[in-house]
Amino acid sequence: MKAVIIGAGIGGLTTAIALQEKGIEPLIFEAAGELTTKGAGILIPPNAMAVLDQYNLTEQIQSMAQPIQAMQILNNHGQLLSSSPTLHEYQGQGFQTHAIHRGRLQQILLSKVSKEAIKLDYKCQKLVFRGDQAIVDFQNGYKQAADLVIGADGLRSKIRHNLFHPRSPEKALRYSGQICWRGIASIELKENWQHRLTEVWGRGTRFGFVQIAPGEIYWYATQHQKVPFTERVDLATLQKTFKHYVSPVQDILASTPENKLIHDHIYDLDPLTTWSLNRAVLLGDAAHATTPNLGQGGAQAIEDAFALAQALSASRSSQSDIEKAFTDYELARRSKVDKVVQASWQIGQVTNLSNPLACYMRNTAVKHMSKRMLQRSTKQIYAWP
Ligand SMILES: Cc1cc2nc3c(=O)[nH]c(=O)nc-3n(C[C@H](O)[C@H](O)[C@H](O)COP(=O)(O)OP(=O)(O)OC[C@H]3O[C@@H](n4cnc5c(N)ncnc54)[C@H](O)[C@@H]3O)c2cc1C
Repeated sequence: MKAVIIGAGIGGLTTAIALQEKGIEPLIFEAAGELTTKGAGILIPPNAMAVLDQYNLTEQIQSMAQPIQAMQILNNHGQLLSSSPTLHEYQGQGFQTHAIHRGRLQQILLSKVSKEAIKLDYKCQKLVFRGDQAIVDFQNGYKQAADLVIGADGLRSKIRHNLFHPRSPEKALRYSGQICWRGIASIELKENWQHRLTEVWGRGTRFGFVQIAPGEIYWYATQHQKVPFTERVDLATLQKTFKHYVSPVQDILASTPENKLIHDHIYDLDPLTTWSLNRAVLLGDAAHATTPNLGQGGAQAIEDAFALAQALSASRSSQSDIEKAFTDYELARRSKVDKVVQASWQIGQVTNLSNPLACYMRNTAVKHMSKRMLQRSTKQIYAWP
């Protein structure tokens, strides 16, 4: 069976690994000319760690990442509002969240995919179905026929546009009203900030940070922004915006090189009616991009990869077999993904609040949230399979 994957992000690479394990040889086409080690950090939560363990990646991740024991939320004066442990057990085996540089995670995933299976500088432009094949056209003029095509090409997926929104590709995107900056700071944090992800909530702003390697801190900052704007915000402006934040926020910003600042407007995807059509299926952000408030977007793509490979493992190349596998995959994944997208959206909206009374009430509610309630919601999110 010839399986083509569009996109070599977290979702595409993990899918390639998962298919290889099932004896299906994938071919990945990636728009970028090289897979660089740029980018900021990422959290690999226990549900993603448990999947990656199936592919014997735990040791490699542990050697390049920092284990995180807890995720805590503080108010901007530094008072603790909530703390939740990240350890979760799967059939008696415990997995913990790990924080890692995105580039390092990509290298780990790449190390499991054969070099011949990845074609760089192939930007997909069009997908058509002809007879019993799917045919992908690339910008460089190349055409590839396949039994099935997996669109793992991210939030602004070309495959999704081709399948479901040919006239208005932006239609499915939802703007969260939030701008996000990310960076990597070179700084040693005091012991009490290590091995935990700390998020500080202010009024319409938020600052999160976590150590990803000794002396290397991944941080992100968000600000409520009703309408997306294009001008670049420099570090000095961010330092002003977060000047009233608890230490070490200012030290982290001051230790970040300006050229390492990344900024994005945060979008997710309005849930699609279905993730597949004919011989093509969507996966990861292409199918269900979520806001980053739960640190679960990449993890959901990783869970998708496992489920899709599982569904395809017993499949032949006939259209009915492939369509059945796609239906089984979506059935296995849909309800969890929808919950994650919805919960993450709500958290984002709550952190957008800027009215002092609303923020006071929000912080009080978070502080008094019962341990059991917190445990129940993390249990649902970390559940796998
Ligand atoms: C600020 C922020 C913080 C986040 N933090 C976390 C976190 O801590 N934990 C977590 O699990 N998730 C996190 N996420 C979400 C996570 O980054 C995404 O969910 C994840 O990267 C999705 O992977 P993907 O492979 O589906 O898509 P992508 O990572 O977007 O990869 C898509 C790939 O497809 C390629 N591509 C695009 N178009 C084409 C084309 N036409 N032809 C060929 N190739 C194409 C792209 O170049 C890219 O390589 C965060 C997201 C943001 C924005």
